[in-house]
Amino acid sequence: MKLKKCQLLFLLFLIAGTIYIAVSNNDASAVRIRKFSEPIFGTLMNVTYTSSEDLHDTIMACLHGADASMSMFNPQSTLSRINRGETDALDMYLQELLPIAYNISEATDGAFDITVAPLVNAWGFGFKNGQLPTDEQVDSLLTLVDFRTIKILDGHVIKDNPNTVIDLSAIAKGFGTDLVANLLRKHGISDFMVEIGGEIVCSGNNPKGEAWHIGINRPVEDSTGTKNEIQEIIDVHNGAMATSGNYRNFYITDDGCKLSHTIDPSTGRPVRHNLLSATVMAPSCAVADAFATSFMVMGMEKAITVIGQNPQLQAYFIYTDSLGNYRTWSSIQAGK
Ligand code: ADP
Ligand code: MG
Repeated sequence: MKLKKCQLLFLLFLIAGTIYIAVSNNDASAVRIRKFSEPIFGTLMNVTYTSSEDLHDTIMACLHGADASMSMFNPQSTLSRINRGETDALDMYLQELLPIAYNISEATDGAFDITVAPLVNAWGFGFKNGQLPTDEQVDSLLTLVDFRTIKILDGHVIKDNPNTVIDLSAIAKGFGTDLVANLLRKHGISDFMVEIGGEIVCSGNNPKGEAWHIGINRPVEDSTGTKNEIQEIIDVHNGAMATSGNYRNFYITDDGCKLSHTIDPSTGRPVRHNLLSATVMAPSCAVADAFATSFMVMGMEKAITVIGQNPQLQAYFIYTDSLGNYRTWSSIQAGK
């Protein structure tokens, strides 16, 4: 059978159309750059990854599981129930996170202390009660604060004092960022960036095929957390990074006193020194997050000593000198 020219043309259109429809239907599973933002842990998460799979729902299910495990704001979370003494059994998230947190408490000689919550609350953070504690109240609450009074044994947590409260807020965002990064790696994804409230894990290349350009915020005083000025951009291919700063999340008392939300567990009082922000790079984001908070407690000098003793940690500090000028100190090697 011989086809006429117009029939042949029609057939060609038909074939081209079918191929086009097949390709566009398949587009959902094509390897491409995928991006989304979602609220989680009281802040915002941003994820960018290159993959044939849409992992949005898997990622969110994992993080909602973590939130139901360690949120201080959800009365039904495992951690809330442990804090009320209703259970001592750790779920799978806490079995992983609690030992990490405990080790950092030991490594920082208690600058990082997961039992600090009563003091955080007394100073008006966490649940914002707004009433400053007296010296006697601080001394009395300090008797509840010591990570050494809790033990982790066979998937259970044992508290010497039933009134001890465990608070993982200073490590939770970093841990959540690690969870998402590990999930992406498990799906064979090597180019990604995950950020939860400023804590970041990145891998491989950005969508332009370059290192990820990570901005470190200039410590502009801003208790609303809405102003963003960049102090420096660091290029990273693979790394976990977290920042702690007392230029945000501070609290101004009626008499104009500025109080940080980071508490020094050795004094029971909000930290006060010239270190404005600590950005830490570490093998995992949970570790970076906890050390960032610890460095804010220790201050510059001690933090630099700790960095010197731990080759797996790098840091970028922003501080004020005696004249009030911004200065920086860094051990971060760019372009890793
Ligand atoms: P930042 O981004 O400044 O590190 P985070 O949200 O990570 O802030 O941590 C702040 C929270 O950490 C506080 O609200 C409090 O619950 C907790 N926290 C304060 N001081 C300490 C401390 N010395 N050790 C552990 N956790 C702390
Ligand atoms: Mg932190």
